[in-house]
Amino acid sequence: MKRILFGALLVALVACTEPREPPADADGATRPNILLYLVDTLRADRVGAYGYPKPTSPTLDRLAAEGVVFEQAYAPGPWTLPSVVSIMLSQPSCRHGVEIDGVKISPESTPLAEILADAGYRTASLIANAYAGRPAGLERGFEVYAGPVDDPARHVASFLEKTDEAKPFFLYVHDVRPHDPFDAGDEAMALFGDVDHRALKRLRNRSLRYRRLTRVDHAAGDPPGTTDNTTEQRQALARLDEMAARYRQAYDARVREADGELAATLDVLHDRGVLDETVVVVLSDHGEEFGEHQGWLHDQSVYDEVVRAPLIVRLPGSEHAGARVDAPVSLLDVAPTLADLAGVPTPDGAFEGTSLVPRIEGRAVGGEPLVATIRLNRKKYFRPWKESRGDHNLVVRDGRWKAIWNVEPDTIELYDLAADPGESRDLHAAHPDVAGRLRARARDYLERCSARRSKTGPPEKISKEALERLRALGYVD
Ligand SMILES: [Zn+2]
Repeated sequence: MKRILFGALLVALVACTEPREPPADADGATRPNILLYLVDTLRADRVGAYGYPKPTSPTLDRLAAEGVVFEQAYAPGPWTLPSVVSIMLSQPSCRHGVEIDGVKISPESTPLAEILADAGYRTASLIANAYAGRPAGLERGFEVYAGPVDDPARHVASFLEKTDEAKPFFLYVHDVRPHDPFDAGDEAMALFGDVDHRALKRLRNRSLRYRRLTRVDHAAGDPPGTTDNTTEQRQALARLDEMAARYRQAYDARVREADGELAATLDVLHDRGVLDETVVVVLSDHGEEFGEHQGWLHDQSVYDEVVRAPLIVRLPGSEHAGARVDAPVSLLDVAPTLADLAGVPTPDGAFEGTSLVPRIEGRAVGGEPLVATIRLNRKKYFRPWKESRGDHNLVVRDGRWKAIWNVEPDTIELYDLAADPGESRDLHAAHPDVAGRLRARARDYLERCSARRSKTGPPEKISKEALERLRALGYVD
């Protein structure tokens, strides 16, 4: 009851004061609860609230109607590990350095959970993809850390049951349903096409085979490029092209199932009477390619199908319901936003993102072109892409423009997303001034970032159960 009253008070305070007064309290009792809900591999454009016409996301759409939708949010990286670490530390991968498995965050870094725990939050991490958890040092700051967890709703209920109700909570959930291999159930598959178990099994086998082919050298302990299996990879890609419709169906079905689990989690909060005093943030760590730029799966490119992520923020009392923010933002901004909404100060220089609260409130925000995503590939090898894109790419967004600086060949691609959202016409030659300006921004950013690079910690031994899970997701062979 006390929490509900304080929650109402907080909503009133947030609505009336300008600038925001943090609801500071020695024991944190007046701070809002936070649910940070990550759906692995969820493409923004497969969500109804982002314009997808198929029924993948009734819960996300409801949440979007009650919250604020960021139209152009960018994942910090094109695959799970660097992206999740970036979200939790609000640092780009060139600074935190967790760019391949086997390293963990620097002991000097301050993850969001630690900052909130120090401010009096009860904290829990419930994650299905163990990759971006304890092995990377991301258990820090969580009093409860559980994984792999497939049914977060049940764990959320039990966590809330067992902990001190007088304190606010910070819950982090990482669901992995839309990640291949797509183990979609019949009910969800039937919403998007016919149910054919043999075809689904064939699809799973083909995606796993393709994934293995991309990193035979890494699996063997050789430097990528030792083996040139371009021909086999081309065949594997063609075999996925043949199953494109089935791939999209299975993916949509898994998104629908993830949406159902989110609904169950929100129901737990609702039934306990705390949903309306909770900040709910739903996002993803990256998207998925469906052959748009000749690839499948993720982490091989930085086109929007892979790096544009959904970002939906529902505030207590549904404040600013229905607002949509069109400006490009980075998911590095999520941790500073949550600290801001919680009224919790952050250590100087720890976070590189900036709070999105001014944007949520409709205030103008200026600044330099946004360096939105960094890809540094150390695992996979496909000669045609190695030659054209290289292994290191930075995405810069400025208004309608999206530039991709391919670091090693030192080339720049330039797309006008307003006219060409599919990134099919490279305009760098037609607009050398824009391309040059964004390339200079990317170069400068990388130079400064590398100078601030953290020393990563030693690797952590991974449990047998977690290893099995990673094998099932295709992360290890
Ligand atoms: Zn992921």
